[in-house]
Amino acid sequence: MEDWEVVPPIGGSCMSPGPGARRRNHKDEDDIIGIFATLLIPGKGGPVKDQAILCSRRTGKIIYLGWPSHIPPVYYNVHLQEISVVMPGMWECHAHFMGASPRRPIDSNNLAMTNPAEAGARNARAIKDTLYAGFTSAIELGGYATELQRVVEEGSILGPTLYGAGGAISMTGGHGDVFEIPYGCVHQALSVNAPGIHAGSVVMLQVDGIDECRKAVRLNLRRGARLIKVFASGGIVSRDDPVQYQQFSDEELKVIVQEAERNGMICAAHAMGKAGILAAIRAGVKVIEHGSYADEEVFSAMKKNDVMLVAAITPLDAILNNEDKYPPEMYRKTADLAKVHKDAYRNAVKAGVKCALGSDLFGGPGTVQAAGINGNEVPLAVEVGGMMPLQAIEAATANGPLTLGPQAPKSGQVKEGYDADLLGLDENPLDGIEVMRNSKSIKYIWKQGKLVKAPGLDPWSVLDR
Ligand SMILES: [Zn+2]
Repeated sequence: MEDWEVVPPIGGSCMSPGPGARRRNHKDEDDIIGIFATLLIPGKGGPVKDQAILCSRRTGKIIYLGWPSHIPPVYYNVHLQEISVVMPGMWECHAHFMGASPRRPIDSNNLAMTNPAEAGARNARAIKDTLYAGFTSAIELGGYATELQRVVEEGSILGPTLYGAGGAISMTGGHGDVFEIPYGCVHQALSVNAPGIHAGSVVMLQVDGIDECRKAVRLNLRRGARLIKVFASGGIVSRDDPVQYQQFSDEELKVIVQEAERNGMICAAHAMGKAGILAAIRAGVKVIEHGSYADEEVFSAMKKNDVMLVAAITPLDAILNNEDKYPPEMYRKTADLAKVHKDAYRNAVKAGVKCALGSDLFGGPGTVQAAGINGNEVPLAVEVGGMMPLQAIEAATANGPLTLGPQAPKSGQVKEGYDADLLGLDENPLDGIEVMRNSKSIKYIWKQGKLVKAPGLDPWSVLDR
């Protein structure tokens, strides 16, 4: 039987449903959390003042957004916590949770050979730091996220909602090859036909020819991939050329994209040089990572085919500012392409290419590319990409799920029916976008309606609540 009663208006400046308000003793009322945002940045569209947001912890969704005076009577007794600035939880669209050792150089060797248990322990730290930087969702393009997501979901560790690609797919001699060790060992570690599971094949798969390309997608599908990542050009970490040549033949790229699409997934391609970018777009890839040598021809092909860009500026600056910490070849390559890469980003934004933000962090804890500085990409989108601050926030929030194609959840916006992933700040990022760079500026974080970060809240205790 339902129990109705008259309750007096609730005090405080932020909530006044009005005298004589009626409420129902809702059995789930403890599961509703209420926030009063003095300023709301909704993710898509301009800021709005004085908004009430109600979230269900049971469903993890936003159930009401609007004026406090319009809150449905059934929720009148929900306390509204006043927060200066509320915005959606951000989307990290180019993460790696590889668990690389901080004691060895950040190179393919390190990534492929790290013991999986060691990697898992480091990843527990990395995903928590990513979450605490304000990223309630992370798309991982090669690494352990497919497995980590299950552990996050069961409540054993604290992290963002993870959308993993499984092992990134490389050709032999391509960006994912481990050039420093003999081919036989690489084959044993990364081949789709190698017996047993190896640490290396978790982060990268090395394939050649149509059949192996198809099998790589299926192996990732088996792990629970939500998208597929392929290397369509060389890169900085690997001993190959990032600029001139496409990696994989058109036929191989196409079969990877088709096999992914047949299973409801899109493909994201690492592509720096123009040949690789255009080959990826021709094959049907929907997200270009890096896009260093993209020009007007590339931008029009991207817009025509609805392809998004994740420019990832953070690694360039990390390497250029820390020459002593990287192998000389990596530093030289970065120095060679940094300017053209940054110009391409700015020109892409100007041309109207849709962008999401990703920081491509894959270092172990304590390294200059460790998780936790993911927020860097937001001010960089303004400084380097030439976005307006509101546009940079949209790229960091509402645009994020779009890089998952058909797998995109309703997330990245403060909107009814969307994931109740919210950030609370004291300062308005629209007045100074730099604030997003520092994870300490993100005072409150709700993930799927659950408070996971707040002043004085111990992260371990969150797991017990
Ligand atoms: Zn990457």
